[in-house]
Amino acid sequence: MFIRRLPKFEYYAPATIQEALQFLSQNRVQCKVLAGGTDLLVSMKNRATTPAHVVNLKGIGELRSIDYDARQGLRVGSLATIGDIERSQVIREKFTPLWDAADVMAAPQVRNLGTIGGNLCSAIPSADTAPPLIAMGASVRILGSRGERFLPVEELFKGPGESVLEPDEILMEVLIPNPPEQSAGAYFKLMRRNAMDLALVGVAVFLRLNKDKSRCEEARIGLGAVAPTPIRAVGAERVLAGKEVNEECAQSAGETASREARPITDVRATAEYRRTMVGVLTKRATLEAFKRIR
Ligand SMILES: Cc1cc2nc3c(=O)[nH]c(=O)nc-3n(C[C@H](O)[C@H](O)[C@H](O)COP(=O)(O)OP(=O)(O)OC[C@H]3O[C@@H](n4cnc5c(N)ncnc54)[C@H](O)[C@@H]3O)c2cc1C
Repeated sequence: MFIRRLPKFEYYAPATIQEALQFLSQNRVQCKVLAGGTDLLVSMKNRATTPAHVVNLKGIGELRSIDYDARQGLRVGSLATIGDIERSQVIREKFTPLWDAADVMAAPQVRNLGTIGGNLCSAIPSADTAPPLIAMGASVRILGSRGERFLPVEELFKGPGESVLEPDEILMEVLIPNPPEQSAGAYFKLMRRNAMDLALVGVAVFLRLNKDKSRCEEARIGLGAVAPTPIRAVGAERVLAGKEVNEECAQSAGETASREARPITDVRATAEYRRTMVGVLTKRATLEAFKRIR
């Protein structure tokens, strides 16, 4: 059997964030941070990335916690695995679109290694955690040798496989505000098969209704795999805001979202098919979010 070997590199396993940041600032461009390795090691074996130093964050325990506070919301450490998310009761109950994404990602083996931080920092347009996080208004905390900064998740991505992180920065945690009353969301993923496949299209919709649940007060929609980065479908959000949520309105939001998408044709699907399916999934996710609130 043909086995791909990793290229040679120096391995560093810091015990604290300070040690990791110091090493990254001294070595900058020759370094790559390692979390679960499910993207990085594949890319190194393919020689798409050949870092001189690999900095393994897994020894820094504080990065793996998932903490919920009714006032401040949810903090998910960047090293929390997709499996940790899937097993979290509070995420399943209160931050359901993220749970939906964890539930349909890869397979259990990959979910037990791959992390939320790695999924976002790999910046692939089809990263499953991105659309739900965008729809739920999440932000990320980033720490570097020059200090700390916060960014909304949708601003983390620069292009396919490229994030705005500097080589000496670490994504520390993902912060998701506590969902308000009368709100819920859903993430729908289209794949060629039911497991172990990247999204052809991913759509997350988050709705907040008025007090008597008759009208949508606010909508947020995240799209994946249909543009160079995960994006927000602001036009479709406007279609839903202030309206009664029904088939017709969800259909119209879907049509707007499909016009906002900028998909490409590749080996997995044509641009035209992806665009059509953005409409279908936006409608389905809208109606599912509505159903979950009611
Ligand atoms: C068989 C298979 C199936 C897959 N299926 C899916 C799927 O269905 N959906 C999906 O979205 N993805 C999928 N993936 C991709 C991958 O598993 C996920 O993106 C995973 O979440 C990556 O996390 P990781 O911890 O393994 O990242 P790593 O491989 O460790 O890192 C990925 C990138 O992020 C950087 N990085 C990691 N953590 C940090 C941090 N805290 N701060 C700064 N930079 C950081 C690394 O330097 C690297 O560039 C699949 C991969 C495989 C191998």
